[in-house]
Amino acid sequence: MMRSADVIVVGGGPAGSAAAERLRKGGAAVLLLDREAFPRHKLCAGWITPEVVADLQLDVGAYPHRFLSFRRLHWYLKGLHLPVPCLQHSIRRFEFDAWLLERSGVEVIRHAVREIRRDGDDFVIDGVFRCRHLIGAGGTSCPVHRAIFRESRPRERALQTVTLELEFPYEWRDPDCRLWFFESGLPGYSWYVPKARGWLNVGIGAMAQRLKERGEDIWLHWRRFAVHLERRLEIRVPQEPTGYSYYLRGPQARARIGNAYLAGDAAGLATRDLCEGIGPAVKSGQRAAASILSGVAYDLGDISAASLGGGWGSRAMIWGFNRGAKAQAAGR
Ligand SMILES: Cc1cc2nc3c(=O)[nH]c(=O)nc-3n(C[C@H](O)[C@H](O)[C@H](O)COP(=O)(O)OP(=O)(O)OC[C@H]3O[C@@H](n4cnc5c(N)ncnc54)[C@H](O)[C@@H]3O)c2cc1C
Repeated sequence: MMRSADVIVVGGGPAGSAAAERLRKGGAAVLLLDREAFPRHKLCAGWITPEVVADLQLDVGAYPHRFLSFRRLHWYLKGLHLPVPCLQHSIRRFEFDAWLLERSGVEVIRHAVREIRRDGDDFVIDGVFRCRHLIGAGGTSCPVHRAIFRESRPRERALQTVTLELEFPYEWRDPDCRLWFFESGLPGYSWYVPKARGWLNVGIGAMAQRLKERGEDIWLHWRRFAVHLERRLEIRVPQEPTGYSYYLRGPQARARIGNAYLAGDAAGLATRDLCEGIGPAVKSGQRAAASILSGVAYDLGDISAASLGGGWGSRAMIWGFNRGAKAQAAGR
């Protein structure tokens, strides 16, 4: 039997949940499809900014899962150590995404989307779902991007990141967040992000193309990082990490074609300096919903491409991460 809705959202990460919640509150009939059952594992350091908390109208006191606020961020760059007072937060994506999805109040169907075709003004998904509006919030491998946007919005290879990460129970004593930039020539950074109540996330991320140009792979840097963690912080990582890839913000290309929208990683919106993707995912999901509900333009131009505000700090990171990408982006 065919299921119909005004809007179908593909993907139940922060972009999909944020869109779905806004749409439901605006009175639209929404279905959300995700190939995973929630809570699902999601590779992510789980650092969120006060802006994310505000955009989601998150009542921190009522949030039932792990939520930790950092009062200090330690930056390490070429032998320099810069402890900076701050207010930033960490969550576990395993918990956060499931909670956000449930809070959205929409019907969630476990379904791996394979084929999307147009039928008049509608979209038909795998022959079993029909909608007038479609939001692609399926992350890097979003099937809406693949089916509708790939030609007009090809991925910018120079903006592809590769990451390795591990999240594990660990009774940390150091409650600050630590970031090491460009260690041993890494075109990226590695991190130590504690989570509330005895969990820890450590990982490493780099620009894929720059690593390739150097004839290196990310595992080499991971092994160095693991030694660093053990020697400097006395943390022995308990197992091998897992990897994921996503795209940073390129030159603004189309994220809407007719009634089809892309949001979050599907649109490649993570910031160019710190590779922050949760904030842009939430904002773009909410904007897609607003566009569907009230007909306003789907404009992502003012969603920041820089977590550090675009000043010298941002420019230094972007330069260090993806010199090649800048040339390619400028050529468009
Ligand atoms: C190692 C690592 C660390 C990171 N650390 C941070 C950080 O600390 N802070 C930060 O802000 N950002 C971070 N990011 C980036 C951030 O995780 C992403 O930008 C963010 O998750 C994007 O959200 P999204 O909703 O667009 O996509 P996702 O969270 O990836 O959600 C996409 C959903 O779509 C579903 N899906 C995919 N294909 C299909 C299909 N065919 N059918 C149905 N469903 C499908 C998936 O199951 C998934 O649930 C990190 C990323 C990585 C890899």
